[in-house]
Amino acid sequence: MPQDNKLDSPIQYLKGVGPKRSKILKNFGIETIEELFYYFPRRYEDRTNFVSISQLKENEYQTIKGEVFIKGERRSWRRRGFSIFQLMIRDKSGKITAVWFNQPYLKKLFKNGQSVILYGRVEEYEGALQMNSPEFEVLDEKDKEAESLSLGRMVPIYPLSEGITQRYFRKLVKQTLDKFISKIEEPLPYDIRKRQDLLNLAQSLINIHFPQDKEIQQKAYQRLAFEEFFFYSLPVALRKLQAKQKQGIAHKIKEDSLSEFINSLNFELTSAQERVLAEIKNDMRSSKPMQRLLQGDVGSGKTVVATIAAIIASFGGWQAAFMVPTEILANQHFENIQKQIKGLSKKINLALLTSSLEDKEKQKIYKEIREGRIDLIIGTHALIQEELKFKKLGLVVIDEQHKFGVSQRALLPKKGTNPDVLIMTATPIPRTLSMTIYGDLDISVIDELPKGRIPIETKVYPEEKLGKVYDFIKERIKEGRQAYIVYPLIEESDFLELKAAQKMFAELRKGAFKDYRLGMVHGRMKRQEQDMAMIDFKNGKLDILVATTVLEVGIDVANASVMVIEHAERFGLAQLHQLRGRIGRGKYQSYCILIANPKGPDAIARINAISSMSDGFLIAEEDLKIRGPGEFFGQRQHGLSELKIANPITQLNILQKARDEAIKLIEQDPALSSRTNLVIREKLNKTFPEFQDLMLIG
Ligand code: ADP
Ligand code: MG
Repeated sequence: MPQDNKLDSPIQYLKGVGPKRSKILKNFGIETIEELFYYFPRRYEDRTNFVSISQLKENEYQTIKGEVFIKGERRSWRRRGFSIFQLMIRDKSGKITAVWFNQPYLKKLFKNGQSVILYGRVEEYEGALQMNSPEFEVLDEKDKEAESLSLGRMVPIYPLSEGITQRYFRKLVKQTLDKFISKIEEPLPYDIRKRQDLLNLAQSLINIHFPQDKEIQQKAYQRLAFEEFFFYSLPVALRKLQAKQKQGIAHKIKEDSLSEFINSLNFELTSAQERVLAEIKNDMRSSKPMQRLLQGDVGSGKTVVATIAAIIASFGGWQAAFMVPTEILANQHFENIQKQIKGLSKKINLALLTSSLEDKEKQKIYKEIREGRIDLIIGTHALIQEELKFKKLGLVVIDEQHKFGVSQRALLPKKGTNPDVLIMTATPIPRTLSMTIYGDLDISVIDELPKGRIPIETKVYPEEKLGKVYDFIKERIKEGRQAYIVYPLIEESDFLELKAAQKMFAELRKGAFKDYRLGMVHGRMKRQEQDMAMIDFKNGKLDILVATTVLEVGIDVANASVMVIEHAERFGLAQLHQLRGRIGRGKYQSYCILIANPKGPDAIARINAISSMSDGFLIAEEDLKIRGPGEFFGQRQHGLSELKIANPITQLNILQKARDEAIKLIEQDPALSSRTNLVIREKLNKTFPEFQDLMLIG
């Protein structure tokens, strides 16, 4: 059925676009007509009435319409090379100044006598009100069409930048919609639309761009969000169905030998660890392949649970592979597990595979794995090298899964025949959401920290108190502890007035901490140098480790009890939580000291959250609220960052409905081969090409 789809044609050849504009539009991700239709407004402005200038309220976002009567530019006397552009606008009621910083091109844009619309926050400055860096639109009565789309109605405002004006874009969308609306194919089956009370696609597109009122805009929005969630859920549903049909390994669990291991640990499992272990054992016993996500806050003890799973596999004659994102972490796991299994009566052959190994050594390990002489292999990305072949891979563990790409995660299990897979993450996702995102995975949660952990004390100080903070560190070192000092940058930057690890390392070593042993670790050092510094720190050869966020996924140093994070307002909330998770791992009271000067509302919210919360799940929920899902899932982890319009947090109910419909559809027609579903299949192939294989199975 695939037909020549008009909506796939490039916008470059539309009237009024051309090569120059199409290049800019390409930067917005718009190359085809369809992409233009799916480029949605960021907000709408009610331009049936404008606020008169004399009625403007301080500290609120408002829209005004007026005439330019003075414009000018000046240099800042405070900062060299800093320019300020000012515009005076008046309407019948009064006048106001608008200012923009460092945008010299604005000078050429405005002319006296022009009509303009400004949208921005109104603030007091030296006794008068002014608008700071407002969004603007220059009106032009001669262009009747653009004028009618931009005045006297609900007006769409798009996320655009220099080079494409709102008016131009509106007109382009309108003309293209008018011309091609009849070519739009409806991807959602009629019965789903009817059941869910959804507008059809053509209506939705028209009304998302040019709504007559708020109500119809909302309906359009819901329909488009549903569509996005629906197409997002289809592959998940497909994968789930497919997994159900696969034949996996029914591991035999040797309880006696397992108990010997568990009893030999120098701690008791928490009840959360016990519960999760029972879930994993059930999966492993079953002949269906395990697909389990293990969530647990930093320090909750996921590693030992995964180790037990690996031991189950190897006692039963299968090989287990444990993949971690960094070499240092691989080393650490290797050493710990080696210690833990040493005295066991049933032997387990352990190996460590990282890319820094000599080639000869690597080849030797490859051979041993291929011949089945290694039972448990711990390693980094080196484990997904093509050359590496297993004899009998029965279990795959992926630690810190968010540090791997989707395809990297998928590669390791392919080295066996439907092995059990355990994926671990310390970035907890709010429960309601994880069910939907990881629809094809079963989820286990370790929601309890090992007993005896002393809660970390978190304090926020301004930079002026650094001297005192340094004294505090010295006292802790005197007591035998160690400390981390974390900076946001590696090198000093011309643009940001931030402290950088390298410079501070040099300074601290000669200054405040000249009598102490300092080490440094950052991402631009060679791997081996990084590891050396961390190992020295771990072995107590350093008092202080100056670091960047490379620490985030890192070592377990129970003796480190202080972490100072400078410019803490620059870090993301999840990042702060992960960093803080490096301390509080031993029997000592630990302290996290944030040196921060938060300015914007987001930064303040982050600092407040991190200093008042310790539960990773609550922090993740807060983070999601502050950042929104787009950035939260920024690493293209599960396609959620690809959502253009749908918001899984605020529209959880739409998400659930869409997911239910997707599952129903896949159960009825797994290959999407019925006539009405062909259009779905086509759209799916286009959106997620990686799922083509999956669909053939059905
Ligand atoms: P994460 O979940 O962040 O990967 P780890 O597995 O590294 O946490 O565990 C953190 C520390 O807690 C390790 O030193 C580990 O040996 C220890 N640990 C794990 N489980 C327990 C327990 N039940 N009781 C006490 N300590 C534990
Ligand atoms: Mg871990």
